Amino acid sequence: MTVGIVGAGQLGRMLALAGYPLGLDFLCLDPAPDAPAGQVAPLLNGEFTDRTLLVRLARRCEVVTFDWENVPGESLRSITRAHGARICPPAAALAAAQDRVAEKRLFERLGIPTTRWAAVSSRAQLGRAITAIGLPGVLKTRRLGYDGKGQAVVRTVADAARGWERLGDAPLIYEELVPFDCEVSIIGARSVSGQIAVYPLCGNVHAQGILRVTRAPYGPAPWQRLAAGYLRRVLRHFRYTGILTIEFFVRRGRLIANEMAPRVHNSGHWTIEGAATSQFENHLRAILDLPLGSTKALGHSGMVNLIGAIPRRAELLKQPGLHLHDYGKKPRPGRKVGHCTLVEASAARRDARTLRVLKDLAGGVRFP
Ligand code: AMP
Repeated sequence: MTVGIVGAGQLGRMLALAGYPLGLDFLCLDPAPDAPAGQVAPLLNGEFTDRTLLVRLARRCEVVTFDWENVPGESLRSITRAHGARICPPAAALAAAQDRVAEKRLFERLGIPTTRWAAVSSRAQLGRAITAIGLPGVLKTRRLGYDGKGQAVVRTVADAARGWERLGDAPLIYEELVPFDCEVSIIGARSVSGQIAVYPLCGNVHAQGILRVTRAPYGPAPWQRLAAGYLRRVLRHFRYTGILTIEFFVRRGRLIANEMAPRVHNSGHWTIEGAATSQFENHLRAILDLPLGSTKALGHSGMVNLIGAIPRRAELLKQPGLHLHDYGKKPRPGRKVGHCTLVEASAARRDARTLRVLKDLAGGVRFP
């Protein structure tokens, strides 16, 4: 059984590494010859829009998934037309996640609270959006943003002018800047035959728009119930197959959806060592219609992203119980090149040790 992956980044690499023990084979497609998943699985090297390669991928695989959410819709249609593989998760979920306006409308339609927003495609519309929603806010590109890219915080009229200058060539969205108490994400899987399994809530800390740390399980039981309920609504709406993630701001006990990702997610990397079944294995089980594995936490996990470059391996590994994941990427400022995870018996010990790792990496944060 061969699983195709459009995109061969670290998510594809961890999918392949989770699938080999299940007896699965993989075939990836990526424009980068040295892409992380291409180092552990066969790679079709070319553009995501290369029809010949997409058809080859579709014909050689039972099912095609993606590790990158900006795969053009037309590429997915080429795969479907090749009468080869099924596409999981469904293309409609991918389309909703690719456009922040479609995503907001989906949340509203399903009764999931989200930030106040307005679509912006002219300077005058930005002015009206600011009048309606107020300051401060965030101006974002509707498409192709990730890790805080394509965003501008707007606190003043001058910020709005600068933001428009920088981003105004593309369709935009303006949303209120939520003074959140903390950020959380919920991750769950739905299998082809409709079985659903949801992981414990993740508590996330971002800096400059990039995820730094995740702790799980996180937050009180009502947050878990709310988040899992919202996730189930989206899973059922799309008759979804695979892993889905929703990120929320928490403000005075309310969960406000920020965005969703129709794929395995950085905030779920802790599940490799910290849950009975990892998000990667459950994604594969879900799309192949195998029984889903338990999502139970095995302890209290802390996951720290390694950004820019992998620090000295020996320094990290001398810490007892620390698991290192090196994605095999070239160092570059602001690039996620790996992560490490600790699983502890108590939340207090997990927090203390996670903070120590962060301090050693000179990227100290304060936990909410
Ligand atoms: P995003 O690309 O939308 O996930 O944004 C990346 C990060 O920027 C979020 O996880 C937040 O930390 C911050 N952010 C984005 N949008 C907002 C918002 N409307 N209010 C407050 N913080 C935001």
